[in-house]
Amino acid sequence: GRKFFVGGNWKCNGTTEQVKKIVETLNAVEVPSSDVVEVVVSPPYVFLPLVKSLLRPDFQVAAQNCWVKNGGAFTGEVSLAKMSNSSVLGVVTIAKMSNSSVLGHSERRLLLNESNEFVGDKVAYALSKGLKVIACVGETLEQREAGSTMDVVAEQTKAIADRISDWNNVVIAYEPVWAIGTGKVATPAQAQEVHSELRKWLAAKTSNEVAETMRIIYGGSVNGANCKELAGQPDVDGFLVGGASLKPEFIDIINAAT
Ligand code: 13P
Repeated sequence: GRKFFVGGNWKCNGTTEQVKKIVETLNAVEVPSSDVVEVVVSPPYVFLPLVKSLLRPDFQVAAQNCWVKNGGAFTGEVSLAKMSNSSVLGVVTIAKMSNSSVLGHSERRLLLNESNEFVGDKVAYALSKGLKVIACVGETLEQREAGSTMDVVAEQTKAIADRISDWNNVVIAYEPVWAIGTGKVATPAQAQEVHSELRKWLAAKTSNEVAETMRIIYGGSVNGANCKELAGQPDVDGFLVGGASLKPEFIDIINAAT
């Protein structure tokens, strides 16, 4: 079976004191072993060394983004090579992407103009540096209402598939944009439908093996109350959690693995 995977995307949140507190809470809890559930937290860049130094070793730490070159004249970007050299992280969260239409509303698409192709380049680059990747895909409300959910998700995934051949270090997060930070969680049936279609797409475009082993996790308004039923869906292999990852209920979400 596929090992359950729970990621906490802290986004652009937290003071040093708050970060220390969250880590203390996580360090103190009893959760299933890392053979059963893989737990990754993703703080803002500035807190990566702090979190890495304080966090229990059975949990991993991820950056929220990366640049596609080793370093140099790229003002404001962070070199992945430097992060991996100091073993600050094991996983890179490529935060939010959407398709290339003008209807893209995901966080990085909206604010930073990231195209599918650019995200695909980042995934390929991070993998080439030996890091793991959580690659996010998902449609906007308009796209869902227009019936193009699977086209959008397939197009986003294709931009990655065009650039990589080894999927071992990739987890795909299906995060419908309309569910992110809205309290409007996808129903278990809605999540299952897209995850299962995406797995079929992977089988057709990559290989049966990639499709069967790929963890496809769900993100968007996951909380302690709705995680259990979502986790019960056959193609939901875990979660990428925003708001609730900053709260003690993140523990309940980790425990949804069992
Ligand atoms: P919320 O859990 O706050 O809806 O955010 C989901 C998300 O974007 C995780 O990457």
